[in-house]
Amino acid sequence: GRLDVRVPTRGRGELARLSASFNAMAEAVQRSEERQRRLVADVAHEMRTPLSNLRGYLEGLSDGVVEPSRELFASLHEETLLQRRILDDLQVLALAEAGDLGYTRAPLDLSDLAATTATAHRAVAAEAGVTLTADAPAPVWVDGDSDRLRQVLGNLLSNAIRYTDRGGQILVRAYVADGEAVLSVRDTGVGIDPGDLRRVFDRFWRADPARQRATGGTGLGLTIAHRIVTDHGGTIEVESQPHLGTTFSVRLPALQA
Ligand code: ADP
Repeated sequence: GRLDVRVPTRGRGELARLSASFNAMAEAVQRSEERQRRLVADVAHEMRTPLSNLRGYLEGLSDGVVEPSRELFASLHEETLLQRRILDDLQVLALAEAGDLGYTRAPLDLSDLAATTATAHRAVAAEAGVTLTADAPAPVWVDGDSDRLRQVLGNLLSNAIRYTDRGGQILVRAYVADGEAVLSVRDTGVGIDPGDLRRVFDRFWRADPARQRATGGTGLGLTIAHRIVTDHGGTIEVESQPHLGTTFSVRLPALQA
C-alpha cells in the first residue's frame, strides 16, 4: 500500500491554496518515485535474462553436461557484451533524463552526417544482405551535437538493418521540408503493427524479443534517440506497414545558411 500524504483542500483563501500546492508537490514526488521503481524493476528484468543464460552455461560446463567449444565461448562473450550495452545505454538515458548529457552544439550538416554514418554501416548491412543507400545531395544545416545526432542515426540504421530481411533495401535521406531539416531512414523490412507504433519509443519495448535478442538490440535505442532529438527541439516520427517496411523521420529546426 502507498501512503497518501495529501491534505484536505476544502475552503478558500491562503490555506486552501497552500494545501493545493502541497498536494501537487506530494503527487509529483510520488510520480517520480513510481517512475524510479518501474525503472529499477525493468532493469532487473532486462539483466536477468543474459545473466541466467550465462549461469546456465557456466553450471553446465562445471557439471560436465556442456562441452567447452569455441561457439560456446563466443556465445558467453556475446551475453556479456549485451549486458554491457544495456548498462551503457541506461547510463546515457539516465544522464539525459537528469539533463546532464552535456550537449556540445555547433552548426552541423545533416547531409554530411547521413553520408558518413551510412558509410560506417555499409559493411554490417552487406553482411546482412541488405543494400544501404544515402540520398543527401545538398547541405542541410542544423545546430546540433554531432556525436549525439550520429548516435541517433546509428540507432535508426542498426534497427533498419536488424529488422530487414536479406535482399531488402535501406534509404537514408537528408533534406529540407517546410523550413525544417529532415533526416529519414526508410527500410523494406518486417514493419511494425499499427497498434504498436506508439510503443516503439518506450523503454525496453520490442515487438519480437527473440529476433531482437538474436540481433543484439537492447530495447533502449529508440528511447535514447527520442530523448536526444527532443532535447534538440526536434521531433521523431515513425510510419510503417507490416511486411512492407518502416520509415523513421527526424525533424530539427533548420539553421539559416
Ligand atoms: P531494439 O532494436 O534494441 O529492440 P529499439 O528501442 O531500437 O530497441 O526498438 C524497439 C523495437 O521497435 C524493436 O525491438 C522492434 O520491435 C521495433 N523496431 C524498431 N525499428 C524498427 C524497424 N526499422 N522495423 C521494424 N521494427 C522496428
